[in-house]
Amino acid sequence: MVLKMELTPFENWLDQNERPFIISGPCSAESEDQVMETARQLARLKKVRVFRAGVWKPRTRPGTFEGVGTPGLQWLRRVKAETGLMTATEVANEKHVYEALKYGVDVLWIGARTSVNPFAVQEIADALSGVDIIVFVKNPVNPDIDLWTGAIERIARAGIKKLGAIHRGFSAFEKTVYRNQPNWQIPIELRRRIPGLPILCDPSHISGARKYIFEISQKAMDLNFDGLAIESHINPNKALSDSAQQVTPEALEEILNRLVLRKPNPADPRLIDELGELRQQIDIFDDHLIELLERRMQICDKIGLLKKRNNITVLQSVRWDEIISKAIVKGQEKGLSNELIDSVFKAIHQESINRQIRIINNGLDVDKK
Ligand code: PEP
Ligand code: MN
Repeated sequence: MVLKMELTPFENWLDQNERPFIISGPCSAESEDQVMETARQLARLKKVRVFRAGVWKPRTRPGTFEGVGTPGLQWLRRVKAETGLMTATEVANEKHVYEALKYGVDVLWIGARTSVNPFAVQEIADALSGVDIIVFVKNPVNPDIDLWTGAIERIARAGIKKLGAIHRGFSAFEKTVYRNQPNWQIPIELRRRIPGLPILCDPSHISGARKYIFEISQKAMDLNFDGLAIESHINPNKALSDSAQQVTPEALEEILNRLVLRKPNPADPRLIDELGELRQQIDIFDDHLIELLERRMQICDKIGLLKKRNNITVLQSVRWDEIISKAIVKGQEKGLSNELIDSVFKAIHQESINRQIRIINNGLDVDKK
């Protein structure tokens, strides 16, 4: 699926061609002083284009700080007047949209707990109909590319042309060092589906911890994301929300200065040749992989038939444990990560099981092939 959307090219959003496009500011607007001082320090860096601050905060549990509400929008208006930065806030319903528009907010974003809900997204889209404003749609909390695509489509259908996406990671039951799992293949697939859609990465909400912000930002740059949305607070340890992941404007500057920006399209013809040759080799190996998979599945089908004739179960977990542990050891010897081996073998195994179940139930006779 490739969707055609009438989008304003990213280069035309702004006066100059900036890469990466940086949004920064506190998770929440807490007080006028905190907002103004953070904005002044961020404006001095000259690298931040948009100042963000949430005024309505979607919190997982009640009883925590849920934002200052509409009064915070007056502070954003002051930020814009005094620093020249564009301003951004999160909207989750039509009232938020009307309030934000009334106070001249330049950029709206739809949060991860809202993009998950088509009713809420449609309500926001309807409120935005005919308005010329920048809108970013964060990925839904669950790793569902269709839901993310659908939310973006709803906003595009309302006539929003300066439209982008923000990748903020996906929640998972099994926790890793990151608060949310990046699942990089999902934003990459989104880019394939909606050509021309700018995609930013939000390493703050992916990491949940400031020490990982640089590595995630670098990865996003290497994957050719268009920009970054990073939370910044003048006193992160005292922040009323997302304290562990916020950085001072000074630390943000250091992160941005350390980033290595590589060119997406190499201009040097020798480099293009070399890359082309290596890519041809990759294509050959990919063909081999597909052939090998085909041959492996043919054997699985034969085993399925044997199991059917002898009335034995498809899944034999001892055999599976043996396969996966052997593969992990072999993979390690070849410098392949456990994660790669585990996911590839699990996918292959699942396919084998599906085919065998079909054979056992439908009596597909592979001997005749
Ligand atoms: C935020 O940007 O502060 C926020 C609430 O983000 P998310 O919707 O990604 O959790
Ligand atoms: Mn936050």
